[in-house]
Amino acid sequence: MKLDTSVKKISRIGPVFQKKLEKIGIKTIEDVLFHYPHRYEDFSNIHPISKVKINQTNCIAGKILEIKNSRTWKKKIIITEAVVEDKNGAIKVIWFNQPYLIRVLKKGDNVCLAGKASLDKEGIYLSSPSYEKLSLASNYSTSDLIHTGRIIPIYPETEGLSSKWLRWILKLILEKFKNQIEESLPEKVIKKYNLLPIQEAIWQIHFPNSIKLAEKAKERFSFEELFLIELAVLKERLKLNQEKAPSIPLNLDLIKEFVDSLPFKLTDAQKKCSWQILKDLEKPRPMSRLFQGDVGSGKTIVALIASLNTVLSGYQVAFMVPTEILAKQHFQQVPKLLKPFKVRIALLTGKEDKIVSQKLAYSTSSGLNPEILEISRNKLLDKIRKGEIDILIGTHSLIQDKVKFGNLALCIIDEQHRFGVEQRTKLIQQPRINSKNLKIPHLLSMTATPIPRSLALTVYGDLDLSILDEMPKGRKKVITKVVSLKEKNEAYNFIRKRVKAGEQVFVICPRIEPGDKQQGTSDKKNISSWTDVKAVKEEYKKLSKEIFPNLTIEMLHSKIKTKEKEKIMKDFRNKKIDILVSTSVVEVGIDIPQATVMMIEGAERFGLAQLHQFRGRVGRSDLQSYCFLFTESKAKKTRQRLTAMLKAKDGFELAQKDLEIRGPGNFFGARQWGIPDLAMENLKNLQLVEKTRESAKEILIENPGLKNYPILKERLKRFKKKIHLE
Ligand code: ADP
Ligand code: MG
Repeated sequence: MKLDTSVKKISRIGPVFQKKLEKIGIKTIEDVLFHYPHRYEDFSNIHPISKVKINQTNCIAGKILEIKNSRTWKKKIIITEAVVEDKNGAIKVIWFNQPYLIRVLKKGDNVCLAGKASLDKEGIYLSSPSYEKLSLASNYSTSDLIHTGRIIPIYPETEGLSSKWLRWILKLILEKFKNQIEESLPEKVIKKYNLLPIQEAIWQIHFPNSIKLAEKAKERFSFEELFLIELAVLKERLKLNQEKAPSIPLNLDLIKEFVDSLPFKLTDAQKKCSWQILKDLEKPRPMSRLFQGDVGSGKTIVALIASLNTVLSGYQVAFMVPTEILAKQHFQQVPKLLKPFKVRIALLTGKEDKIVSQKLAYSTSSGLNPEILEISRNKLLDKIRKGEIDILIGTHSLIQDKVKFGNLALCIIDEQHRFGVEQRTKLIQQPRINSKNLKIPHLLSMTATPIPRSLALTVYGDLDLSILDEMPKGRKKVITKVVSLKEKNEAYNFIRKRVKAGEQVFVICPRIEPGDKQQGTSDKKNISSWTDVKAVKEEYKKLSKEIFPNLTIEMLHSKIKTKEKEKIMKDFRNKKIDILVSTSVVEVGIDIPQATVMMIEGAERFGLAQLHQFRGRVGRSDLQSYCFLFTESKAKKTRQRLTAMLKAKDGFELAQKDLEIRGPGNFFGARQWGIPDLAMENLKNLQLVEKTRESAKEILIENPGLKNYPILKERLKRFKKKIHLE
């Protein structure tokens, strides 16, 4: 048997337990070994019975003088009662509803017990202690103990897999395989960081001799897991460097012409990022770049510069966004911006069966508005295949098998955190799948949610980073306020004034109808009751009938028909609507520069990243903007979160806070990455991340194929099967 042998081969693990193990992802012997405890209970000091302390956990060792079952007077609960004696005294022990105990523990057995001591009218007793038989009759040998008499491991609770059972199986496996567990970390890494060698570490993490050693062991495995992630990511990077991509020459004159045609001047940050991207596109290797810029910092223009340059060389661009509303917005804006150039832009949204016609816009050089044509889906797909569409904008629809590009050279993904890893991979692999093309397109992933550095170095570690760290000139910080019920009328008055001044307002509600589930939240845990959560339909009625009868109010949510949605967004953009009451459908990307008030109902229902995105819908021009967070919740976490919204100086600080409050697991829905818990916990730890990255780099530079480190190579291979990173 080897470490990668299935647990099925271990006769002591029956099919029932195999299933339970599999449920938590444990399939091999190695998986069992690397299933770590999440805490320890210190039962290492065995006290004389005479010194047992009430209301504390005590560990004692002694002989069972008697043991028997009885029923309580109501006959509902079976009580097992025993008396245990050591040299200095005796104590009563009670277990509830475990009648089988009298078959396990017998009169005359020597046992070790650990549990809380309580006092009743008959005296002191140990209540439901952990128990363990001692093998030697006279002299209590505790070296074999795993449940008592030592520091014992407590494993994350999972249905039907008790810590007790895990300790038993781990002891068994550890003893059987202890010599087979080979050191996977390179010797010099172990030396440099003073890590515990694996055999010792694996023993100490499960059955530590001291808390200190348990910590050392944990430190070693934390290091190892992050190190493996870094290796995986850096190797991926090396692989990508060997791929080929179309090299797109820089059309400097025309790009300059485009930039000059814009109604504003680019910020320095926009120029810098555009330059980085354009330089990358020239290379015959695929770009893989994460383009990060706070909400409203102007990423779209930079993406367009890259797109235009690509199109000018005769290639196609795929522009994928997470929502239909956003796709439509881009489809409206892009042709207008590219007006001076003859670019064929198309919109492809919706599922195949639902949509029969698709739109196509030709931007013309005559300076007129772009003409928009509706053509059939098949015709559009044909044009895409023939390379007659230059920029294809769409939602997930772009990765359907039917969509085949003739000449795709650049994939842009907007709000990339809203897409899964597979979806991104599928988009860039499209040309290869379709035409055995040896080249793959360049990838530009855009996000407004800044990625804390520790994550940028790990899960996003194979991407290059461009950061837009400057807002367009004249932007003012959005004034943010947490507003209570009492102050609501004041807020409404304020809104009246803003509308009078020609500005517009968003009102966000967590759900569509009373009784509905929340729309697209990331924070399900926070939801306690739904009775007082604001719903769009109700709020719309209230605002239009009672509060603002003289203003034009519309509502928007996912159940409204596509055509209708489109009209509402258009009217809002054209200032025909004063207040838009909406669900989170407008969370990302929507750009209405003259909107200045963002009012969020039930703010406690949204995650920090989401709130930041909502707030980013205003403050997109030089007008002073406002964000009102309404909440009736007094929970500590809510307060913590909303305070962070007020305090954080930018999205970056906010993301860091979010990471701290929610933990990496919930941040970005990182659970889907399949990263082991220990590594997940340590993704917050920038120092450790940097150390492991440094080490991984050193090893790979010296030995890219890891040939000199065969054990590490194998371990990495198995590790990689479990995780899937960005
Ligand atoms: P985001 O980075 O959130 O995607 P957008 O690209 O939608 O931001 O840009 C936000 C708004 O700022 C848009 O209305 C856009 O036209 C405008 N904008 C972009 N760059 C500049 C600039 N350099 N100066 C002024 N306004 C700009
Ligand atoms: Mg955007």
